Amino acid sequence: MNMDKIIQLIEKAKSIAIVSHTNMDGDAIGSSLGLMLALRKMGKYAVTYIEENVPERFDFWLDIDGLVRYNGDKIGEHDLLIVVDVADRKLLGDRGRLLDEIKNTISLDHHVLHYTYSDNSYVKPDAAAAGEIVYDLVKRLGVQIDLDIATCLYVAISTDTGRFKFDNTTPTTHMIAGDLLSYGVDSNWISNKVFDENSKERIKLVAEAIGTLKMYYHEKIAVMHITREMMDKVHAKESDSEGIIDFAINIRGVEVGAVIREKEDGSLKASLRSKSFVDVSKVASMFGGGGHEKASGCTYQGDIMSFEEKLVNCIRGEM
Ligand code: 5GP
Ligand code: MN
Repeated sequence: MNMDKIIQLIEKAKSIAIVSHTNMDGDAIGSSLGLMLALRKMGKYAVTYIEENVPERFDFWLDIDGLVRYNGDKIGEHDLLIVVDVADRKLLGDRGRLLDEIKNTISLDHHVLHYTYSDNSYVKPDAAAAGEIVYDLVKRLGVQIDLDIATCLYVAISTDTGRFKFDNTTPTTHMIAGDLLSYGVDSNWISNKVFDENSKERIKLVAEAIGTLKMYYHEKIAVMHITREMMDKVHAKESDSEGIIDFAINIRGVEVGAVIREKEDGSLKASLRSKSFVDVSKVASMFGGGGHEKASGCTYQGDIMSFEEKLVNCIRGEM
């Protein structure tokens, strides 16, 4: 679908709800809030519904009202729902209901595997982040970008590109980032807060996770796991586990890294990364998940060891 219909729907709407995926990352929060602020500048009523705490590493610049806890039964009247950075309705958690409750629905996404769930989807897999799509949209809506909008979109784009180092980073990515910097975005400060600072709990969790490291298939596959027991022991939050996968994939000689994490509800969440030739989105899709060629995820019901074995077998099948 082209963007014209989306622009028409936004122009017509008075009250707009924005949502993104659970386990929010920088793209989810940055794209949602950047879009929300732009819509407000157009005179729209706009709110972003979340259903978990904003991870500490993203709440440093969020002096923003309009970030509303989703409380199933009591939400305002909205005539348009915009879903950003979501490949699958399942990733919306309870807020999936809004897709049925709000009359018009739009999805802005950049995942190769996008399982259609909205009336209007705009999917651009060559966009490095949903933030790039929102940037385009904001420009096309004629909204003047300001420092707050630029900061949100910069967080979105810099996180989904791993600070402009993943191979989804294109000349367009750099041009957009360059334009965002021209509004005064403090990239050094963002980079420190989002990427470099760690909570003490996260460092302890890293140690726990690394202790579980196992290598398979001529040491080309590295797998770690994180149990509830480990999380409780070091008082870690869900968000403290983000990025631990990098320790697996960054081992020299490893092609695929996986981290299996036990979630609060007992289900298992796998994060998958590949270095060069394995398409891990294919592996994730075998378990009903998805993502990108080099970064994907899925969930599984069962025990860690049997999941690990199945996962490793599927990964080997792709090598
Ligand atoms: P992460 O490992 O950082 O949680 O996720 C990496 C990528 O895989 C992200 O782009 C995310 O959207 C995608 N992803 C993670 N879990 C799932 C899942 O259960 N289903 C789908 N479709 N995508 C997922
Ligand atoms: Mn994204």
